Amino acid sequence: MTANPHPWELPAPERSGKPSLFALLPEEFEALKAPGRADHIFAQTQHPWAWVEDRPRVNRAIREWMEAHVDAVLPTPVERHTSEDGSTKLVLELSDGERIEAVHMPREVRNPRVTLCLSSQVGCAMGCTFCATGAMGIRRNLTAGEIVGQVLVLLRELGPEQPHQITLVFMGMGEPLHNLDHVHRAIRVLNHERGLNISTRRITVSTSGLVSGIEKLATLQPRPWLAVSLNASHDEARSAVMPVNRAWNLTRLRQALDAWKPSPKEKFTFEYVLIHGVNDTPEDADRLVAWLGELRHAHNLNLIRMNEHSASTFREPQEDRLNAFVARLKDQGCFVTVRKSRGRDVQGACGQLIRP
Ligand code: SAH
Ligand code: SF4
Repeated sequence: MTANPHPWELPAPERSGKPSLFALLPEEFEALKAPGRADHIFAQTQHPWAWVEDRPRVNRAIREWMEAHVDAVLPTPVERHTSEDGSTKLVLELSDGERIEAVHMPREVRNPRVTLCLSSQVGCAMGCTFCATGAMGIRRNLTAGEIVGQVLVLLRELGPEQPHQITLVFMGMGEPLHNLDHVHRAIRVLNHERGLNISTRRITVSTSGLVSGIEKLATLQPRPWLAVSLNASHDEARSAVMPVNRAWNLTRLRQALDAWKPSPKEKFTFEYVLIHGVNDTPEDADRLVAWLGELRHAHNLNLIRMNEHSASTFREPQEDRLNAFVARLKDQGCFVTVRKSRGRDVQGACGQLIRP
């Protein structure tokens, strides 16, 4: 007989007072006495196409059980903005009327692989000065059900039908490690073999460097891949644009990454938003190399052009400065890529997402 999980292991209740259907793990369906085989109901309800017109394609007994015991409301798409580069930003309304943005990015026209960029909070508390989400402050955390719901709605609206072709990045609105319990529960559900079964290699959590959260996440299973937003090459500059650096500086951040002990297959991504005249000098490149140390060979340094928006006076870098920066990093053995920002024309690119 399977032991029932303790009630406090169930996901936190939604506003309706019931746990979200989308945040439940198979064993919890048993605990809530769902009619039928728990793993089967889990698989059915985690299927995006079961939710066409928000009416689940499940039998009557399950539907009645759902009405009585769980909250089965998915976020509602209220706006859709398609970029000329093929990516689509969906504005989703939550049950309390708050709105978030999530972005669907097909990687190639003839290849249906997609990356979904997910939000973890309405707004963000971290206050990075280059970021539009940061400028709006924090309104609330998303629940695990709302995070899984974003994935189901994006797939239902925009595909693809094969779950193994999906990559998830927590690079939308919010600092995911500020909402780690909900984000991690969502990852457990999304990674579950009876659900969408998305491998941890295809789930990346991006953090501004919240060291307490990095240290916690390092111990959790399943453990997603980690991306860290650096955005400056020394403490004074980083503290000026990312207040989190005043609590955990670059040295402390580096210690947390060493303690993570990535397995040989696991790759960190280091994000560095290049801002014109702020962090784009050859000396910045050299300090970055020194900070990365050995990590620069096997892990990925991802440069992002500053996406301009009305909440910041920072400007995008000049191409010749960017190219010189890349060359200097490569010359010193860094594995560097320059992010092709998607959805800029629909305000859907990194750092441009706001509560509409
Ligand atoms: N809060 C997390 C994840 C969301 S932000 C984090 O900060 O990592 C996702 C990425 O967008 C981060 O690397 C961040 O540095 C970057 N970003 C923020 N504002 C930006 C802007 N205006 N232009 C380009 N990238 C930006
Ligand atoms: Fe928050 Fe990330 Fe924006 Fe910083 S860059 S304000 S952590 S969303």
